[in-house]
Amino acid sequence: MQSVAILGSTGSIGTQAIEVAQMHGIRVTALAANRSVDKLVEQAELLRPELLCIADESRYGELKEKAGGLGCKLLAGMDGLCEIASHESTDTLLNSVVGMVGLLPTLTAIDAKKPLALANKETLVAGGALVMDAAAKNNVPIYPVDSEHSAIFQCLQGNKRSQLKKIILTASGGPFFGKTKADLQNTTVEQALNHPNWSMGNKITIDSATLMNKGLEFIEARWLFDLTPDQIEIVVHRQSVLHSAVVYADDSMIGQMGVPDMKIPIQYALLYPDRLPCPTKPLSLTDYGQLTFAKPDYDTFDCLTACIKASEMGGSAPCIANGANEAAVAAFLARKISFLQIGELVTQSIQTLPISPLTCYEDVVKADRAARDFVAEKIAAM
Ligand code: MG
Repeated sequence: MQSVAILGSTGSIGTQAIEVAQMHGIRVTALAANRSVDKLVEQAELLRPELLCIADESRYGELKEKAGGLGCKLLAGMDGLCEIASHESTDTLLNSVVGMVGLLPTLTAIDAKKPLALANKETLVAGGALVMDAAAKNNVPIYPVDSEHSAIFQCLQGNKRSQLKKIILTASGGPFFGKTKADLQNTTVEQALNHPNWSMGNKITIDSATLMNKGLEFIEARWLFDLTPDQIEIVVHRQSVLHSAVVYADDSMIGQMGVPDMKIPIQYALLYPDRLPCPTKPLSLTDYGQLTFAKPDYDTFDCLTACIKASEMGGSAPCIANGANEAAVAAFLARKISFLQIGELVTQSIQTLPISPLTCYEDVVKADRAARDFVAEKIAAM
């Protein structure tokens, strides 16, 4: 790869992707952030990309003021993200924005035949059918950046896809492994933001605490690897060393291991199929001593249960579960609802709202809107 354009450049994945790009001499042609103008400008001063975008349009004036002299074309909003996604200077698009907002840039990149390194799992959850159909039609490769999906992708190399029996999707279990609902009644935002293994943004950290993240990854895996729900087994693995595994027809299980560091999957997505030195700590199995595996607790973590149910229901159900979760997590972070209410709202959304097929982008937006409105109404009535 010669160059990469990064959506979500100031986030956890984005900043690590820049590190990986610099180490391997990959040029960064575009940077886009949600709201962090100062950090974005700092990155632009270092990397001198052609395009610079702030997704929050209200901060465009600030961007113009601070980055005006850098010689980058300055962009804002969804139009800016989509201009980067389809721009002639974009070789590969790394989409690492958070949430449903990543869907349109993903579809735009695919239409423009740009290979995708995809870290924005919500776009596959909300619009998986659209994204995978468009990618197949345009012959556009999608390289997963999520550590579990990268692991599965790595384990599929050199084997026959038709002989795959199932996948093992590993889960760290989050900060509340072993807890019951009664234990989690009074969980604070600070407790939920304290993840044992991974350092990530707020939204995904809460999703990891509720196991919604694993539910989203379950749906993401279905689309990426064309699996049925019964071909995916979720296993709680506290150490986050085995990043996932696949099982072939002969019952051989092949897994990918490494230290919990996102630079490995980011680099694999950017350099595929090459494997070059990566700026991470090497994995020492003897330092760990033992690795543990357990079944998930589906009663306590009802977000996970709801996602699997939504995946089986199909149509707009996963999109609704995702939209309800995005709204509920924002409300929890704003201290408007309790931790356990996130799972209750996600479950109720797929039980209550009508489920319909998703045939175009507008269908996805409508289902997502309905889910967010549903959560807002429920919260207003509390
Ligand atoms: Mg993951």
